[in-house]
Amino acid sequence: MAIVYVYNPDTNLVEKYYKGLLEAMPYVSGRTMTVGEFRGSSGSNILWTDKRMLQSWNAFRSGWGRPIFIGYAFKRIWEGGHSPQSQHYAGVALDIGHTLTAAEREPLYRYAVDSGVWNFVEPEPRWVHVDDRSGTPACAEGGYPQLSVGSKGVYVFILQDGLTALGFSGSGLDGVFGPGTRRAVLDYQINQGLPQTGMADCATWLRLTSRVTGMGATATVVR
Ligand SMILES: [Zn+2]
Repeated sequence: MAIVYVYNPDTNLVEKYYKGLLEAMPYVSGRTMTVGEFRGSSGSNILWTDKRMLQSWNAFRSGWGRPIFIGYAFKRIWEGGHSPQSQHYAGVALDIGHTLTAAEREPLYRYAVDSGVWNFVEPEPRWVHVDDRSGTPACAEGGYPQLSVGSKGVYVFILQDGLTALGFSGSGLDGVFGPGTRRAVLDYQINQGLPQTGMADCATWLRLTSRVTGMGATATVVR
């Protein structure tokens, strides 16, 4: 059994589901993406994504018209496996098509681009990466968006996950940037000698994600 959080941009609420790994992901048509497929190589029983990504999947999968192998989707940032500020830690990225030959994968890549369903598509040597990243990156070179009190959604989960992994508690793991999350951000900024903005800004994201990505589970990780 896993806890699946889904940020719903239509209501601006974070929804919470309890699902078995063989069940379909919330909002997914049929069983085209199970909880186990979304979890992929992550060992976590706490997962998050947003409704828009799941709706993009429905449109993409039904347009393609046949099964699509999902190799990697979700990971906790401390589990690593992707670069810092990867959209996989936000639960809005899918790596697909590993079972295809390069010649078979080319049309899948072309369809991912031409369908216009995804916000970002990138060909990889052995799969196609698609994601539904959102928000304006806090840093000029890209990455996660700036967050402050009142922010909600998948990037708040990453922020809270990173802060608690490093022992800056008080924020919990709920996808909602409230006073406790702000306090944890301020404590981290003081600890690191960063400007005390109380926001997940460019400098804070860079310092946090470079330390936490792939560091492994710590005693303070929220499980
Ligand atoms: Zn990827």
